[in-house]
Formats: sequence, structure tokens, C-alpha cells
Amino acid sequence: MSRIVYVNGEYVPEEEAKVSVFDRGFLMADGVYEVTTVIDGRLIDFDGHAARLVRSLTELEMASPLARDELLEIHRELVRRNDLIEGMIYLQITRGVADREFTYPEDAAPTVVLFTQARGLVDSPAAARGIAVISIPDLRWRRRDIKTVQLLYPSMGKMAAVKAGANDAWMVENGFVTEGTSNNAHIVKDGRIITRNLSNDILHGITRATVLKFAREAQMEVEERPFTLEEAKEADEAFVTSASTFVTPVVKIDETAIGGGAPGPVAKRLREIYLDETRKAAI
Ligand code: PMP
Repeated sequence: MSRIVYVNGEYVPEEEAKVSVFDRGFLMADGVYEVTTVIDGRLIDFDGHAARLVRSLTELEMASPLARDELLEIHRELVRRNDLIEGMIYLQITRGVADREFTYPEDAAPTVVLFTQARGLVDSPAAARGIAVISIPDLRWRRRDIKTVQLLYPSMGKMAAVKAGANDAWMVENGFVTEGTSNNAHIVKDGRIITRNLSNDILHGITRATVLKFAREAQMEVEERPFTLEEAKEADEAFVTSASTFVTPVVKIDETAIGGGAPGPVAKRLREIYLDETRKAAI
């Protein structure tokens, strides 16, 4: 089955979806992306992703080629054309095609690509069982708040995790956990949720923001501050958040079992609240 992919204003079969070898996304990783989840054929947290996209583009001095409503229409059209019930929509915008130079070209038109990935996300064995993570040094650049397509280090981290028999890696800098390779990291101690504060050190996760909002509304205590790897290993619970994994418990960090090695009540409850509420608000 061939997907219909959006490339620069056109909907084409995936075999025909092509960009230039001179695209700055290909040559310099000069591009940004978003991943929006689809459940029941509707978009979860669309406005959060659209707002962060504008922020990433602005930080890189790129104009937004599409307004929020145009972007929404393309997402919906891809859902329709691909009969997508559950999965993700990947969106990438690069600075466009230009002869290879380090300076930004002045007249390049941005390249805009979106495609669907059908995938079961809600009934997840990883969520039921919990996942194991290893710790690795955070060797990424210092503007992790910009959602760029330069994902090689996170890829290396994920490979190291798989080779070690784990599911993912948590990155550590100066003793403090920054985040997972493709998710935000959180711990729970004495009923209190502890999660790293926003800065250039981490991606400002859309799921993180929504989950913390629901947690506070449910009268849970939330503390936004850096936490160490040792603190994480002594926590009652640990979990990650991202658009495609929602809230997923972490039951092992390196060789240390967390919460007796089974998913804990806070992560379970947050996953339920997150799925219930965002499904109601999906568009
Ligand atoms: N941190 C990193 C490094 C990520 O790649 C992601 C997901 N792309 C996240 C956090 C989670 O962000 P979101 O909740 O917006 O998916």
C-alpha cells in the first residue's frame, strides 16, 4: 500500500515524493520538524505543535510558510487520503534548496513535507510493562529547545540502548538528567512529580506541558527543577512523555529497578487522564 505524501503544495504517491539533493535539510540538517499524533482519526494537541513549530522556525530566522489553518487543513487532508485512524503525522520544514554555503540563502523557498505513519499507540505493551532505560552522556548541541532534524546523537543513544537490551536512553549532563532520546523525563518521589525546568537544555515537550497541566488540575504536586541520575534511581516512579508514547512508565534505569520494577500508580493515572482529556479535545 502506497501512502499519499504532501510535498510543497502537492499530494503525491510516496514513490513520487522527492526533494532536491541541494536541499539544506539534506546538506546541513537545516530544518525543523513536528510529530502530531492521530487517535480515532483526529489530531491530538495540534495547536501546541503548531505553536512550537513557529517558535522553532523563528529561532532559525525562517518565515512560517503556512498559517495555522492551512497547516491544519493539510494534516486533515492526509488523515482523509490515507484513512489514518491511529498513528502519527510527521511534518518537516527546511530552509529550502540553494547552492551549498554556510550562510543562509536569501531567496530560497522553504521545503515542506508531511507524511503519515499508521501505528497502534494507545494499546501499548510498553505502557503496560514499563520500559528500561540506560544512561548516556548528553553530547548534543546546546539549543535543544529548537526541534531540528539533526537527530544523529539521539539515534546513537537509542542504538546503544537496544544493544544493552534496554528500550531507550536518558541523557545526563553534569550529573543531571536532561531528557530521553525522544521524550521528556520525569520522576515521582513521595507523590510529587519532579521534572526538569524548561530552558535551552531540553525540548519543550508539548505532551510534557499538557500532562503537567492535568497533573496540577488533579491537585498533584509538581516541581520543575533538574534532578540527578542518583535521585532518579531512588525515585518511587519514573516515566517519559512524548506525542506518540503519551505517558510511559520507566521501570529500570541502568541496573536499578524503579518502583519494584513495575509501573506505578502516578504514571498510570496520568496516562489515563492524558488520553481521556486529549481525545475529548482532539480536532
Ligand atoms: N524531547 C526530545 C528530545 C524529543 O525528541 C521529543 C519528541 N520529539 C520530546 C522531548 C517530547 O516532545 P513532545 O511531547 O512534543 O512529543
